[in-house]
Amino acid sequence: MKLVVPKEIVAGERRVAVVPESVKKLTKAGVQVFVQEDAGLAAGVRDVDYADAGAEIIPDAKDLYARGELILKVEPPTQNEAVGAHEVELMPPGAILVATLQSLRNLDTVRRLTARKVTAFSMNMIPRTTRAQTMDVLSSQATAAGYKAVLLGAAASGKFFPMLTTAAGTIRPARVFVIGAGVAGLQAIATARRLGAVVEAFDVRRAVKEQVQSLGATFVEIDIDEDAETAGGYAKEVSAEYLAKEEKLLHERCRASDVVITTAQVFGKSAPRLISEDMVRHMSPGSVIVDLAAEGGGNCALTEPGKTVGKHGVTIIGELNLPATMPIHASQMYSRNVTAFLLEFFKDGKFNLRLEDDIIKAALITHEGQVVNEMVRKALSAG
Ligand code: NAD
Repeated sequence: MKLVVPKEIVAGERRVAVVPESVKKLTKAGVQVFVQEDAGLAAGVRDVDYADAGAEIIPDAKDLYARGELILKVEPPTQNEAVGAHEVELMPPGAILVATLQSLRNLDTVRRLTARKVTAFSMNMIPRTTRAQTMDVLSSQATAAGYKAVLLGAAASGKFFPMLTTAAGTIRPARVFVIGAGVAGLQAIATARRLGAVVEAFDVRRAVKEQVQSLGATFVEIDIDEDAETAGGYAKEVSAEYLAKEEKLLHERCRASDVVITTAQVFGKSAPRLISEDMVRHMSPGSVIVDLAAEGGGNCALTEPGKTVGKHGVTIIGELNLPATMPIHASQMYSRNVTAFLLEFFKDGKFNLRLEDDIIKAALITHEGQVVNEMVRKALSAG
């Protein structure tokens, strides 16, 4: 089985899908690995490191793709201007692609993959179950984003995070408020605590209260008998009464905070709008909002996806791809996730698609010229 790792070409993407430690593992499983020249450079990996791990370096993207029985990427395939072709057109018909496809936002790419008869798996469809934990790209990359969000918030804030006792007097610690205590939120809480801030957090799932407290933060609560957690541990949408009470609480907590980090999302829905313009207006000048949900429309009404803007004296950061700004460790984690996924195909000692496996089935988007994933199929037929 020949596996190829192209250089990512999306602007600002510095990660690479596979790092040398994974090349070694895959080679052991009988996979022949080919890596495009300089594919890992921005993620701190030289061609010589890949070669030492057993990969062959291929200078040209076209030559590389032509060998691909298995193609491993981070970003969804896109137009390669240097080659003058869409990456899907470079893939041999019948090839297997594993990437973070974000299929619902990239329906054109799904159409191309179907036409090319590519069997495509999307790492962002891996279920968040115990068995799939080692393959959970959403979690590993959200960890990087939660960490970096705090660093961005700290850098944009005019305040120290820790309490300082100096000859110039005592400086009070910064107050950080984290909305949504899922994977990114918990990492944001931990990072802000490590920097010495006083941290509060809120989530509609009460089950996370203990986790928040164990990180040294305060869990703020709403006085209502409603828990928005599904039996599977996910958040569900809340009632109008709940949202009204949440709005009041968030208004108060945002007003009292120096840095607000928002990470609220409900799977398959656009980001809940939790911070209104009025709330921003009431925050202290010099405060910062880091909106991690910018890509899904933003938790803050004033967020401009991909931009940092100043509104009513508050800096609002809507960066879209924070894991790409942590390329060394984010690639290492992505590579481990994707390798764990690939090794599922080699369970019987030789390669087998094993489409009956629940994790593999959940990640499958296109196969044999058909769109297999139901949500994506519906989105396509809705036009
Ligand atoms: P997650 O599902 O683990 O966490 C989201 C949390 O939001 C859950 O705990 C959920 O209960 C909570 N939530 C839902 N509705 C809420 C509400 N109304 N009020 C308060 N909390 C609510 O998701 P995650 O993996 O931590 O990702 C969080 C966000 O970060 C997502 O929007 C994701 O797309 C984004 N993200 C952004 C980047 C980036 O670079 N900007 C990178 C990775 C992830």
